[in-house]
Amino acid sequence: MLPLARHATAYASRIAIALVALAALTSAHAQALPDPGRPVLTPEWETLSCPVRTAPETGDAASLMAFEQRQRYRDVLGAYLARLPEQVDLALLMPVPSVRVAQIADTYAAARDGGRSHEGQDVFAPRGTEVVSATAGLVYEMSGRFRGGRSVMVLGPGARRYFYSHLDAYAEDLREGQWLEAGTPLGYVGNDGNAATTPPHLHFGAYDFDPVSCRFRAFDPLPFLVDRLPSADEAAR
Ligand SMILES: [Zn+2]
Repeated sequence: MLPLARHATAYASRIAIALVALAALTSAHAQALPDPGRPVLTPEWETLSCPVRTAPETGDAASLMAFEQRQRYRDVLGAYLARLPEQVDLALLMPVPSVRVAQIADTYAAARDGGRSHEGQDVFAPRGTEVVSATAGLVYEMSGRFRGGRSVMVLGPGARRYFYSHLDAYAEDLREGQWLEAGTPLGYVGNDGNAATTPPHLHFGAYDFDPVSCRFRAFDPLPFLVDRLPSADEAAR
């Protein structure tokens, strides 16, 4: 073997070792896969391949954190979306069942600091009030978000994403990858994240997925929200 070729072989094996080490490192933080008991309902999503973004959009902390989270979840998004029903929900269950839809002051798209607009609705309720999933779906992410603080992201039918944030605590036994029915407890109202100076509330966001840009886009969930129907017992009182 020519010295140059030998050198190249050694170099290639060093790269291979580095890649194996990198894979081991990243797998330690790998995103949970969806509940293996869930059937594939929309197989076309399984081959979803989102572009690798090489840098955050801007250098601010929120952008860096979003970039890191997106990298972590990108590889498993298709596996999640494929296990969801195709038809979107025509109605969303009120995620704080003890509050009526009519009590929500519409603040969707209201101006927020840094030139942002409010991508969701706020449901005010005492700290510790139960928060439930507005839809069926899979728990995609439980994490501390830059603005939302303690948050749960649920992927629901029709490749929609629902975001529940500022939570005081998660529901016991809730885990990433878990299948939920509408009404399954997610956590408790709080003021974590950038709601620290406001009264406790749930920030509820809803998003459609755009497969071309591989991004979720906010829409106003308020027109779709319905009050939780009282149980027969409650109705009789
Ligand atoms: Zn909000």
